[in-house]
Amino acid sequence: MAITEVPLADTLTRPLRDLRISVTDRCQFRCTYCMPREVFGRDFVFLPREQLLTFEELARLAQIFTGLGVRKLRLTGGEPLLRRDLDKLVAMLGAISGVQDIALTTNGALLPGKAAALAAAGLRRVTVSLDSLDDAVFMALNDARFPVAAVLEAIAAAAAAGLAPVKVNTVVKRGVNEQSILPMAAHFRHSGHVLRFIEYMDVGTTNGWRLDDVVAAAEIISLISGQWPVEPIAPSYPGEVATRYRYRDGAGEVGVIASVTQPFCSGCTRARLSADGKLYTCLFAGVGHDLRGPLRAGASDQALRELISSIWARRADRYSDLRTRQTRRSQQLKPKVEMSHIGG
Ligand code: SAM
Repeated sequence: MAITEVPLADTLTRPLRDLRISVTDRCQFRCTYCMPREVFGRDFVFLPREQLLTFEELARLAQIFTGLGVRKLRLTGGEPLLRRDLDKLVAMLGAISGVQDIALTTNGALLPGKAAALAAAGLRRVTVSLDSLDDAVFMALNDARFPVAAVLEAIAAAAAAGLAPVKVNTVVKRGVNEQSILPMAAHFRHSGHVLRFIEYMDVGTTNGWRLDDVVAAAEIISLISGQWPVEPIAPSYPGEVATRYRYRDGAGEVGVIASVTQPFCSGCTRARLSADGKLYTCLFAGVGHDLRGPLRAGASDQALRELISSIWARRADRYSDLRTRQTRRSQQLKPKVEMSHIGG
C-alpha cells in the first residue's frame, strides 16, 4: 500500500505515528495496580479465542495503519507472550513496508524461551516490567508468586538474543515500592539497560487510583540524583514519553514517565488496538471504535482506511492534561476506563 501523501492529523494537529497492539487480554500476573485479583479472579471471563483478531487480521490492519503514517508498532497485552507463535506475527508485521520499528512490552515470564525466535523474526526492542528487586515487594505487587530472579533472567535472555539495550519499566506506587527506587537504579547503572520509572496512573476501572499514591517523577529524579547526580538529555525521537537523564559519572541512562504530573498529550501520536479489534485514541479512552466488525464483514482496505482516518481526524483526547488541571483544582478524580487496551 502506498504511504499517505497528505499527512493525517487529529483536531490538535497530532499525526498518527505509533500503534500499540494488544494481542491478548490475558495475563498470568495479577499486578494490584493493573489487573487486581478481586476483579480479574477465577470467575473473570476473558475474551474467547474467536473474538481475538487473528494474525492475518492484525497484519492487514497494521498495513492500513502504516499507510496512514504509523511507523512504530508495539505488541502488548495482557501479556503478549501468552499468545502462541507471536514470532510469526512479528515476521508478518516486519514484512510491511513502512514499518520501521517493532517492539514488545512483557512481564518477562515467558521471554527466556522465546527471545531468540522473536529477535530472529525481526523484533527490534523489548521492554520488561519489573517493579522491585525485593521478592516480597515484587510478589505482593504481581500477586502471582513470580520471583525477581526470573525477570532478571528474562532481561539477560533478551540481551543475549540481541535485543539490548532492554528497557525496564518500574511503576512506582507510594507506600508500596518507593523504597525500591534506589536499589533498582543501583542495579541497572552500568548495565547498559535503560530503567524507566512510571508514575502510577489511573488506568483501569478498578485500581482505586488516588493522587496520594503517585510518586512524582520530579521526586524520583531528585532521589536518584541525590545519590548519583544526573543531567537531562534530549529525547531520542519526537514524542518520546520518557524524560531521559544521564548519570554524570557515565553509568548510563535512567528515565521517568511523568504521565500524571507532566502529561504529554500535546505530543501523543499513539493509537491503541485492543485484542478484540477496538481502536482507542487515548490510553484513558472509555470507548473504543470497532474495527473487527467491518473487517469481518468484508470491508475493503480503502473502506477501513477511511474509517480509521475519520476516527483519527476527529480525535480530541487530552485526558491527562485535563486530569492534571482538574486534580490541581479538586484533588479528587475517579478512575474510569477499561484495561483491554492499556498495555505498553
Ligand atoms: N504484561 C505486559 C507487561 O507486564 O509489561 C504488558 C502489558 S502491561 C499493562 C504494560 C505496562 O503498563 C507495564 O509496564 C505495566 O507496569 C504498566 N502499567 C500497568 N498499569 C499501570 C498503572 N496503573 N500505572 C502505570 N503503569 C501501569
